[in-house]
Amino acid sequence: MLGQMMNYPLTISSLVDHAARYHGETVITSVNTGDGVEETSWGQVGANAHRLGEALLKLRLEPQARCATIAWNNRRHLEIYFGVSGAGLVCHTINPRLFPEQLVYIINHADDRVLFIDRTFVPLVKAIRDKIPGVEHIVLMEGRDEDAAAEIEGLQFFDELIATGSPEFEWPEFDENTASSLCYTSGTTGNPKGVLYSHRTTVLHALASNTPDCIGFSARDVVLPVVPMFHVNAWGTPYACAQVGARMVLPGPGLDGPSLVKLIDDCKVSIALGVPTIWLGLLGEAEKSGTQLASLKRTVVGGSACPPSMIAAFREKYGVEFIHAWGMTEMSPLGSTNQPLAKHADLPTDAQHKLRENQGRPPWGVELEIMDEDGTPLPHDGVAQGALMVRGHWILDSYFQKSVDETLTNGWFDTGDVATMDPDGYLSIKDRSKDIIKSGGEWISSVDLENIAIAHPMLADAAVIGARHEKWDERPVLVAVAAEGHDPSEEEVLSVFEGKIAKWQVPDKVVFTDVLPRNATGKVLKRNLRDQFGDVLTG
Ligand code: AMP
Repeated sequence: MLGQMMNYPLTISSLVDHAARYHGETVITSVNTGDGVEETSWGQVGANAHRLGEALLKLRLEPQARCATIAWNNRRHLEIYFGVSGAGLVCHTINPRLFPEQLVYIINHADDRVLFIDRTFVPLVKAIRDKIPGVEHIVLMEGRDEDAAAEIEGLQFFDELIATGSPEFEWPEFDENTASSLCYTSGTTGNPKGVLYSHRTTVLHALASNTPDCIGFSARDVVLPVVPMFHVNAWGTPYACAQVGARMVLPGPGLDGPSLVKLIDDCKVSIALGVPTIWLGLLGEAEKSGTQLASLKRTVVGGSACPPSMIAAFREKYGVEFIHAWGMTEMSPLGSTNQPLAKHADLPTDAQHKLRENQGRPPWGVELEIMDEDGTPLPHDGVAQGALMVRGHWILDSYFQKSVDETLTNGWFDTGDVATMDPDGYLSIKDRSKDIIKSGGEWISSVDLENIAIAHPMLADAAVIGARHEKWDERPVLVAVAAEGHDPSEEEVLSVFEGKIAKWQVPDKVVFTDVLPRNATGKVLKRNLRDQFGDVLTG
């Protein structure tokens, strides 16, 4: 016997329609690339999403045709998110920081038909135009502009395109499992791989992220996604904000400390989301300008390990609650968030703070397990380290144009991370499995060492790699970037580890460099560092 309830599909268009209907006047602030700061509303965003949906279908695109974006966080990008998916097409967000060859590969692999671009990226697209013949329409995300039109043949304009559609346009009906959006992982080796999300997984992910122990946006929040809309759909923030009608502030191209501090203060931002490197710039500027960041109540930080010193700075200097989150492109991306349990309220303050440092617990919808090399689950004792495996409602099943067999192991997705889990399910990410340092049969977490090193006042940045060693196979080497105006010695740097970790885990050597190599999403390219410094202990 089936239940006798409405079968109302979980669609992305239902999110924006809800926001437009019940939060229509809620303001969206957008820092546009061409025409400065603009205020619009969920009502307007909803209307333009409908216009765009109809305009795209009038171009006679096939169902689920890929419509790509190379753009910053702004209101037209938001309208594209909802308009493209709402029309039954697939919104493919592209990271502009990829190398041109990778961009060409991704656009052709995804078979993109439409390409929406911000003005910043006109030269980039002009340079690769000949290599992406499948793209039929290139649309500048602005009104008509003759200068830009002269650069790319046949260039169309967003404002003119949506004028061919109606705000009354009715979304087509389709199954909730229909593909809705596509992101490629910015792998450090090989070609990027596509993750194809569905309407259902996106809506379920938004629902879970809106629970109070996850992120929990509300209609009273002013949300600043600093995380780019080309990085796993800005962690799903646009969908989750539409679902509850939160006010959004879209920061455009300026992600430097001064621009962010100004936006937070001007728009009274209550919650901001981004990767740790962004917050380093913000904290530096906040200190300089003397602002108290008075409106800011919470920050969500993830994408790479967040040093405890940063968590403490937010808490102690600005009274901002820090939510450490972990996830990945293949997981839509949310896998865990660090929030306390009721029983922690009685712990001493230091212990409570310590608990907030790790990557937290999974929300409903994600199941996590740590396993040994044979796939046997390891104890959840906060000590045993194993391969972190996941499954759940918004985890990928297979990469775009690849089979399940190539992607999963016994129904689990191997995240490539090594972690411990405690009896309450709190996760501590120790490393990427290929980066963990294997020293004489013991594992040393490069992340643990980096977290300590980065707190050194004379260092601006730090990474730890396993360097080859004759006796121990590998030993940790610290690659350090000195802070401006400092020139610390090796001893001065290594003193930071004293009393914080076992002696045998202290790096054998410190090498200094000007800047750490990073990939398109800001992760340190450890492979490059190993190529450069992997032999410093043997040579
Ligand atoms: P991406 O798919 O580009 O978002 O990268 C996902 C990977 O980033 C994960 O597998 C982790 O290795 C890393 N990562 C994300 N969040 C965190 C975090 N909070 N702490 C440590 N590593 C993280």
